[in-house]
Amino acid sequence: MIGAAELDISHIRLGERPLIVCDVDDVVLQFIGPFQLFIQSLGHEFLPRSFRLHGNIVSMANGAEIEDQHVSRLIEEFFESQELWQTPLDQVVETLDRLSQEADILFLTAMPPRFQDQRRRLLDRIGLLFPLLASEQPKGPIVHALHASRSLPVVFIDDMARNLHSVRDHVPDCLLIHLMPSSPVHRFAPAAADDITRATDWTHAAALIEAHSFPARSIAQLQPHERTAILAPCHRLETGCIEDRRRADAECHGFRLLHMIDRAGFEEPCIVAPRMVDRAGEQAMA
Ligand SMILES: [Mg+2]
Repeated sequence: MIGAAELDISHIRLGERPLIVCDVDDVVLQFIGPFQLFIQSLGHEFLPRSFRLHGNIVSMANGAEIEDQHVSRLIEEFFESQELWQTPLDQVVETLDRLSQEADILFLTAMPPRFQDQRRRLLDRIGLLFPLLASEQPKGPIVHALHASRSLPVVFIDDMARNLHSVRDHVPDCLLIHLMPSSPVHRFAPAAADDITRATDWTHAAALIEAHSFPARSIAQLQPHERTAILAPCHRLETGCIEDRRRADAECHGFRLLHMIDRAGFEEPCIVAPRMVDRAGEQAMA
């Protein structure tokens, strides 16, 4: 649990509908790209040698490593001036606007709370008017406090494995989505657990969110490209496919196929027929 003295969530009002909790840096707002431009403007350079800023920023003049204390100051100065540098990720504004018609959306950013005003202004200017919580505490207890004992669907999206694992440990029924840029430094990012779904972009994330949060909406009602998006991260656990009998060419392979079928909720099982195939994909088994 979190204490009211540590983080005030009393102003957050949730409706009787699904909740989507969303990290901000490198999920909603670009971080690593703009941060690199910011430090370059000050004569520094980021070398993506590991998944951390400290120890990887050097002087462009002589290659000398910038001390940790100075790096911490640079990060704070960046947050202070974020309105001049940070921009939204592709599709995030349109996607969250659409999802907000059926779900509550909340931003949970791991940023020092004293920069909340700058972030609020920036999000508002972009058109992302959803509530914002800034806290450097573990995210799992915060999402637990927000969601409490509600029986409605809840989703958490973050680029950091440790935040996803924290929420998994405190909110067992939460759909966890790992969404991060494909930047050089993110190649060093710690992997999330195998049961956490990796989304390739916001279009893919939206398909996952909708399948989890609005189960009455049948896969049969989705466009073929949306079905593919839901079922694309595949091949590791199950081999299978979904076949749309109305369209002979609308077959796609699926990640944890039966689980996803169960989550999606078929309203017209006679139209969309799931079937398992063997590992080589050659022979129908059922
Ligand atoms: Mg982040």
